[in-house]
Amino acid sequence: MNSLRQSGIGMTSQRTRGRMIERLRAQGIRDEVLLAAMNTVPRHIFVDEAMSHLAYDDKSLPIGFGQTISQPYIVARMTEIMRDGKTLNRVLEIGTGCGYQAAVLGQVASIVYSVERILPLHERAANYLQELHAENVRLSYADGGLGLPGEAPFDGIIMAAAATHIPQALLEQLAVGGRMVLPLGAQEQILCMIERDADGYHESRLEAVKFVPLLTGKA
Ligand code: SAH
Repeated sequence: MNSLRQSGIGMTSQRTRGRMIERLRAQGIRDEVLLAAMNTVPRHIFVDEAMSHLAYDDKSLPIGFGQTISQPYIVARMTEIMRDGKTLNRVLEIGTGCGYQAAVLGQVASIVYSVERILPLHERAANYLQELHAENVRLSYADGGLGLPGEAPFDGIIMAAAATHIPQALLEQLAVGGRMVLPLGAQEQILCMIERDADGYHESRLEAVKFVPLLTGKA
């Protein structure tokens, strides 16, 4: 958990962020720790200035390189499911993109590792997170399908890109007692939760979603 630098944030963005939190409540998000975290992280700094007036709408927005920042509802939903009301220690995110979800995760976990395969996105996210002094968020430029074996196990894993099957490396890197949340599928995708307990892995299928695909290798 980390306190973000708050300077340079105007009243307008604070008001629109407050409206985003109310909308998330209306959409069924109940985790108050998470809602407080999302009220703290300025989403507008993660999008192009020309689109910053749309930053708190419930929309995914382009971030370049054919990728998008996920809509606030899906960031909230995945984090709420992964957190399950618990204080998390180590969390892994696959698909840093602009770094927004990593910043939110940094508010609800002790340490966050986030992996991105597109170098310019990785570098830009590093700049945004440095600007926010999100010091407990560690970024890696790598193929996230392999996870981060050197930093495992993780109490929670979030995949921000859709795979057609669950990467074996990620299953192995999930701690016993931990939860992984990921979109599965190609054209039709479904949000899945994997829980690991002493008996093994348990999969639940939740709701239809739309994510960019998980690709292999680095770009
Ligand atoms: N988490 C972001 C959303 C990112 S969109 C947010 O806060 O809005 C998904 C990202 O996953 C893209 O940036 C894409 O490049 C990345 N990605 C896709 N396949 C990947 C892989 N194998 N390893 C790491 N990142 C990957």
